[in-house]
Amino acid sequence: MTALFLEDAYLSTVESLVTGIREDGGILLEQTCFYATSGGQPGDTGFLERENGDKIQIAGTVTGDTKAEIILVPAPGQSVPAVGEKLVQHIDWDRRYNLMRMHTACHLLSVVCPYPITGAAVSETDSRIDFDMTDTIDKAEVTAKLMELVKANHPIFNQWISEEELRANPDLVKSKNVRPPSGQGRIRLVCIGEGSSIDSQPCGGTHVGETAEVGEIHIGKIEKKGKENRRFRIRFGPLPA
Ligand SMILES: [Zn+2]
Repeated sequence: MTALFLEDAYLSTVESLVTGIREDGGILLEQTCFYATSGGQPGDTGFLERENGDKIQIAGTVTGDTKAEIILVPAPGQSVPAVGEKLVQHIDWDRRYNLMRMHTACHLLSVVCPYPITGAAVSETDSRIDFDMTDTIDKAEVTAKLMELVKANHPIFNQWISEEELRANPDLVKSKNVRPPSGQGRIRLVCIGEGSSIDSQPCGGTHVGETAEVGEIHIGKIEKKGKENRRFRIRFGPLPA
């Protein structure tokens, strides 16, 4: 299974052969643009188009025993494709694009608030990030700093490095709070700004290509969750007055 979204997050439709049907109905493909739930970002929904024009609705995408195994989960009552059948995959692009914008917003927040991250979840309408921190921060101030990064329209790009390179150059990873996955040989860094001037950190999610695409966002709430935990919520749109 080739995970095409790792190289091109903007690929919304692609052809593939069916390589297997699991006992639970999950569909395996030779290559896919469907992102599988991981790292706080929900998996893609959409449909598979058969050669006769029939559609198989996909309710979600998950990983199997390893992260490399991607399983498309059909909605109940869909027809079952044959192994070897050629299909065209279509992801629900509006939903995915909002997830890309929100996921990228999380990276920007980790630049503005450089504290260790203890949890994160992305949805189509908002994101939440938990930081290990005790400081009190003003949400208008954080919103202003986020929007500065958005408006500067910094490029966002991927850089693949080996585990050896990472060990030899620990400074490549600017965020010390995320431990890169090991044992997979290659690590993908998501870099923001020319020459990674703003940030770079290992991440397997999907991101927009320039920070301006995130659009207008604000910090909706900062909750105190325990003595050393602050939960930030990022939402689309301007900060309400
Ligand atoms: Zn990411």
